[in-house]
Amino acid sequence: MRVHRANRWFLKRWSILREQAWPAGTGQIVLSFDDGPNREEAVSEALLDVLAEEEVQASFCYVGKLMERHPSIVARAHRDGHHLVFHTDSHTPLPLLFPGRLRQELQQTATRIEEITQSATAAPRHFRSPYGFLPPQVSRVIEEEGLELAHLTFFQTDVWSGPFWADLHLNWMKRAVQRHQGGALVFHENSFLIPINKHWLPPTLQRFIRWAKAEGYAFSSYRDAA
Ligand SMILES: [Zn+2]
Repeated sequence: MRVHRANRWFLKRWSILREQAWPAGTGQIVLSFDDGPNREEAVSEALLDVLAEEEVQASFCYVGKLMERHPSIVARAHRDGHHLVFHTDSHTPLPLLFPGRLRQELQQTATRIEEITQSATAAPRHFRSPYGFLPPQVSRVIEEEGLELAHLTFFQTDVWSGPFWADLHLNWMKRAVQRHQGGALVFHENSFLIPINKHWLPPTLQRFIRWAKAEGYAFSSYRDAA
């Protein structure tokens, strides 16, 4: 990713982008999916089907209030052994969220997850901020709550992408993984404000996973971070 020096300064301090962080350079890939579950449950189900078929575990950064609408997806992700990550309850940009409100949202999301999964230990230990912003007051809350950052080593903007862009994103991901020798990456399984057709994502993910396996990459989770 080529960015201006001022942008680089901003990204390093005030975002979740950590280009040099684990698992970059290790040949491992951490897959994460933001903003789900999809309003069309078939998309989220198909993603979980692909991961089950390929025996790959991923991190799901579901939005709290969407979990409430699609509890069966969240329950299945947990049952399938995937890793649930805090992505707040409301998906409000964090610079607009006061620390007290953020703590409240973390608590709400944890309660939702415990109720849906019927598991007292399913509450996330990792945090992915909405839109990737990480202002200092948020970093402080994350640290005080004892949470780890679900960082990214590179980022692509597939939020608004429909089927036409599938190959472009696939090729971009392959190149980024090769360049970084692995990495922590994100796909968006749902578009948060305007409905976007995401039916392209599960088959594209399967092509990506099969390519990565054939190239010798291994899949890992934030839970395995050193
Ligand atoms: Zn998001």
